[in-house]
Amino acid sequence: MTSGASAAAGNIYIITGPSGVGKGTLCALLLQEHPALCLSISATSRGMRPGERDGVNYHFKTRIEFEAMIEHDRREQDPRRHHLLEWAEYNGNFYGTPRAAVESALAGGKHVLLEIETQGALLVKSKFPAACLIFIAPPSMEELERRLRGRGTEADAEVENRLRIARHEMALQPEFDHVLVNADLRRCVAEVRALIPVP
Ligand code: 5GP
Repeated sequence: MTSGASAAAGNIYIITGPSGVGKGTLCALLLQEHPALCLSISATSRGMRPGERDGVNYHFKTRIEFEAMIEHDRREQDPRRHHLLEWAEYNGNFYGTPRAAVESALAGGKHVLLEIETQGALLVKSKFPAACLIFIAPPSMEELERRLRGRGTEADAEVENRLRIARHEMALQPEFDHVLVNADLRRCVAEVRALIPVP
């Protein structure tokens, strides 16, 4: 697929929005409902959290390995040979979408779900104009803070940084195709589901 996906072709659905808004849970529920959807597993240079598994939650890379992929893509003129479809630095760590897995799923007629931050989402849209950009917003910044602190995966300073980035990301909402408020998880899943034409 390049642009203007045909009926048989798969498309890219991007779930974006601030950290802590519930993107991961939302994607997990969508996949349960629709196993035909294919979730892109990102690469990251951030450390593994307890309970995470390499190749399942992320492809975990060292910073040096990640920088080598970025450098390879910078030098490689042919985008079909790039390692990453997009990448971004978020809160001091690299995150990126492996290109080959996404393109082979699309070529196989599958819809691909990307759960990524806003800069990367906009980059994918510039490469795949038919991609559907879905911004998940919290009901309020207070609620976002409560969720981020409640999940207990980050230290206080890290939560502060994520909230600072979130305020910037919230201002980008008009750039996305759809903005959905995640006040009620099940309802939000149904709203996203309605945007994805899976049988
Ligand atoms: P976390 O450290 O909480 O797993 O992820 C931090 C942020 O990076 C989240 O907003 C998450 O959606 C985003 N992210 C995860 N994978 C990717 C990716 O491949 N590319 C980009 N641009 N962002 C990603």
